[in-house]
Amino acid sequence: MNFDLSEELNDIRKVARDFALREIQPTVDEDDRAHRFRRDIVDKMAELGFFGTAIPEEYGGNNMGFLAGAIIAEEIARVHSSMRLPFNMNMNGPALTILKFGSRELKNKYIPGLVDARILGCFAITEPDTGSDVASMKAKAIREGEHYVLSGSKIWISNAPVADIALVYAYTDPGRKVKGMSAFIVEMSSPGISVEPITEKLGTWSAPVGTITFENCLVPAANLVGEEGDGFKICMSQLDDTRLGCMAGGIGVAQACLDAAIAYANERHQFGQPIGKFQMIQDMIAQMVVEVEAARLLVYRAAFLRDRGVVCTREISIAKYASGEAANKCADLAMKIYGAYGYSEEYPVARYYRDAKSYQIVEGTSNVQKIIISNDALGYRRANR
Ligand SMILES: Cc1cc2nc3c(=O)[nH]c(=O)nc-3n(C[C@H](O)[C@H](O)[C@H](O)COP(=O)(O)OP(=O)(O)OC[C@H]3O[C@@H](n4cnc5c(N)ncnc54)[C@H](O)[C@@H]3O)c2cc1C
Repeated sequence: MNFDLSEELNDIRKVARDFALREIQPTVDEDDRAHRFRRDIVDKMAELGFFGTAIPEEYGGNNMGFLAGAIIAEEIARVHSSMRLPFNMNMNGPALTILKFGSRELKNKYIPGLVDARILGCFAITEPDTGSDVASMKAKAIREGEHYVLSGSKIWISNAPVADIALVYAYTDPGRKVKGMSAFIVEMSSPGISVEPITEKLGTWSAPVGTITFENCLVPAANLVGEEGDGFKICMSQLDDTRLGCMAGGIGVAQACLDAAIAYANERHQFGQPIGKFQMIQDMIAQMVVEVEAARLLVYRAAFLRDRGVVCTREISIAKYASGEAANKCADLAMKIYGAYGYSEEYPVARYYRDAKSYQIVEGTSNVQKIIISNDALGYRRANR
């Protein structure tokens, strides 16, 4: 891997960094405390092409690549973790999945709108009794004439309260186990859908999340993604791509913790000198630097491989694990360096600490990533098949 980013990628980082500081930073604390979803900022990100980096021009994208997308998501999350969610909800989730598996009709109908954020997306895998064990989902979609009748309940769905479409996974033939799962694009305005926001949550307060209930919801047969029975395969492929967006966000949060910790270690004086002069603070800063840089290299490697069309589930899981753990370790160390001020809302580290937690949970928990990594290492189940 080339360790130097190209001039183009450095320019892309600068555009994203400038955007985040200009458009997100001024109101970040106010927005977060108000649990305010900033649709206007999402629209501005779309105008800059942020949700089109992995999408060909034919469908409104700019084809700059996964690494470019990761760098942008990282810089956005470095300022506000909640605002990196739209990368997955529009591009890495629904748009890319339709691009890879959908019919020409689905591609034309939905991808350009997801790229320019005329429509907002979400993806719905998790259910009240189904988290890591995706195959245990209960949602069903039974074919009746030109429609599927979709019933079931999805929970913890990011963007559900604001989404126009959802990429939904359900069983079309439960008897065939995972071979009976299918994927659909469901318009959220369809009759039979109700959404309940989840407002009481630890962090990412500006990122709406909710429960979606489908009660005999009619989904046009044309909205099946791929073939009947392809759902599990599509879901695993989608998770590889959405993990990329998520882990880029994790390094953004980890970097934000490091930025804040360095500033505070130089500014806060105790015993007549900046606390950064104490070796124990230096130890924590050094650990944070290593965490951030190691995770970033792993994330960039995975995005780089994905840009070359390499199946890299293993490398994605390694990077996702490293990034989620780095975000949490850096948030924990930043809190220690800030002492009581870390515990207050006067500085942003309390927000980083709350937001970091989701990176160990979403898109497959840290344990799930370790299962993929270790099973591959032990030769039990190859990840990059
Ligand atoms: C903020 C937020 C946003 C989310 N957004 C979405 C979304 O947009 N769409 C969506 O579909 N879902 C979403 N989710 C759900 C998320 O994907 C799940 O929470 C995640 O997959 C874990 O499932 P679970 O919470 O049910 O935990 P469980 O699967 O019940 O796991 C509980 C614990 O057991 C561990 N565990 C489970 N199985 C094993 C095993 N075999 N070996 C070892 N340990 C194991 C887990 O690692 C975890 O520590 C979101 C969740 C959050 C918190």
